[in-house]
Amino acid sequence: MIATTGLDRLEIERLVRGALRNVLRPGCSQPGEPTQPAAPAQPRLLVNVSARHAHVTQSDLERLFGTGHKLTPFKMLYQDGFFAAEETVTFVGPRQRVINNLRILGPCRDHSQVELAFTDSIQMGLDVPVRKSGDHRDSPGAYLVGPKGMIHLERGVIRHQRHVHMCQREADHYGVKDGDFLNLRVASDCPAVLEEVLVRVSAGAKLEVHIDTDEGNAVNLSKAKRVELFR
Ligand SMILES: [Zn+2]
Repeated sequence: MIATTGLDRLEIERLVRGALRNVLRPGCSQPGEPTQPAAPAQPRLLVNVSARHAHVTQSDLERLFGTGHKLTPFKMLYQDGFFAAEETVTFVGPRQRVINNLRILGPCRDHSQVELAFTDSIQMGLDVPVRKSGDHRDSPGAYLVGPKGMIHLERGVIRHQRHVHMCQREADHYGVKDGDFLNLRVASDCPAVLEEVLVRVSAGAKLEVHIDTDEGNAVNLSKAKRVELFR
């Protein structure tokens, strides 16, 4: 004889969905999603190189590409909602040195900014400070040229400070809060520990370190055997 469990169909569906969600996404819950019971598993760490790129405001975008222009997604990035756009601009630095095809990352921001690697900035003849996004203190400017116009950034050319995106649950796992620093160990044939990786905690963020092309090349990231974050 089969005993009835007392679980109704809706309850079973709810349990199955919950279990599936844990399998598909063992990290943080999305905003508005019920929090799952804590899983002790190590969060899956991704380290990605962020090549040089630009962020623009909607009004700067329209000056470069024409009135009413909207960014067209070219490739979605790992962080939900962010993308590399089809649109690129020409970066003109001092002494007419140029970077062609500088890609814009979307969506539009409330400030325009260019992120270069150290090697890029040396080639441009620019002294570029390491800054977190939106902090343009003592940073040089440049001209950006699009098919419909040009803008002059008085400042905002930075070398983006190495950082890690994470949600609150992952911050709890590492014992850090927004604005703290972690160390990143990369095991490869050029092993190194990158210090002072800025922690950026936001709802819905996925665990991902962003370093620039110089940093990625220095540790031979594409051939890395293991990456690890630690305090
Ligand atoms: Zn980032």
